[in-house]
Amino acid sequence: MLHLGKQLAHKAPKLNLTAAAVLSGGKVQNSTQNATSIRNFNQHNINSNKVVSHNLCHKRLSSGSASQSTNVNRMKRLAGKVAVVTASTDGIGFAIAKRLAEDGAAVVISSRKQKNVDNALAELRKLNLNVHGLKCHVSEAQDRKQLFEETISKYGKLNILVSNAATNPAVGGVLECDEKVWDKIFDVNVKSSYLLAKEALPYLRQEKGSSIVFVSSIAGYDAFELLGAYSVSKTALIGLTKAAAKDLAPEGIRVNCLAPGIIRTKFSKALYENEAANEAALSKIPMGRLGTSEEMAGVVSFLVSEDAGYITGESVVASGGMNARL
Ligand code: NAP
Repeated sequence: MLHLGKQLAHKAPKLNLTAAAVLSGGKVQNSTQNATSIRNFNQHNINSNKVVSHNLCHKRLSSGSASQSTNVNRMKRLAGKVAVVTASTDGIGFAIAKRLAEDGAAVVISSRKQKNVDNALAELRKLNLNVHGLKCHVSEAQDRKQLFEETISKYGKLNILVSNAATNPAVGGVLECDEKVWDKIFDVNVKSSYLLAKEALPYLRQEKGSSIVFVSSIAGYDAFELLGAYSVSKTALIGLTKAAAKDLAPEGIRVNCLAPGIIRTKFSKALYENEAANEAALSKIPMGRLGTSEEMAGVVSFLVSEDAGYITGESVVASGGMNARL
């Protein structure tokens, strides 16, 4: 990924980061019958109240241990799952890989440079996390093939795909974008996400409750002035999420999207490394601070877990309150 650093350093200040009804049918009763009925009704209620309160008590007592074991399970809510996270040797991708592994998944990490893969693997293994890694440039068909083949040979299955890679080789307004730059941005950010999902599908289909997460951006909702083409590519990912989610919902495969705001990573360095840029960025964020990669990872861990079992086709914006409406 080409960092925004040098390109944006002087332009950053201009960024526009910007339920019963009770039916009493039947015959009319006389007053004696009514009185008896009322007494019976009250007695019944007293008795049933005892039963109810006994049951509640019992439930409360037993739910103590039940919720304890539920909590224990939640601590490892991804136990038994296998995840592939692309572009995961640094920044948001690395934090996602780490969090999914901490939540019990076996995680396959990757990025373009083997050295970065080795370093990230060493760091994650120091934490006793179950990880494997290999080089994968998401635009390379052979690399993507190897990514899934190695995942299956190492772990035997695939439950989760997180497509996180993106590039931004140039800054400027959308219509100022050079065609070759446009093609590169759409190749890495959109086409490879679509291809990764397509290629992962045969494996995801073999498992119950599989899911895909695409990493988009707040810029996909409200284009950043100087990241025109990049912003449009991120809007396309929100569209890809919605279209794929509808296709795959009948099969029980969920597709969701994370749209980060401005997160402190190398990629966004230009937006915080000098005071003027930092102030300009902070002025657009109601929470008054940049987000962290770990905060993004928490959202993804939720989205791929059973806790999000009824969520598909959604994009979760994690932006400290920055506006996110199409
Ligand atoms: P980052 O800190 O620069 O990390 C980039 C990671 O991606 C590195 O591990 C890099 O390793 C890898 N990578 C780059 N290009 C790749 C490619 N073509 N194929 C495979 N791996 C590749 O970036 P980040 O800020 O975490 O961004 C991650 C995602 O979040 C991107 O989709 C970005 O658009 C999105 N996002 C970021 C922000 C933000 O403020 N940071 C905001 C909104 C959205 P190698 O160099 O070894 O390839």
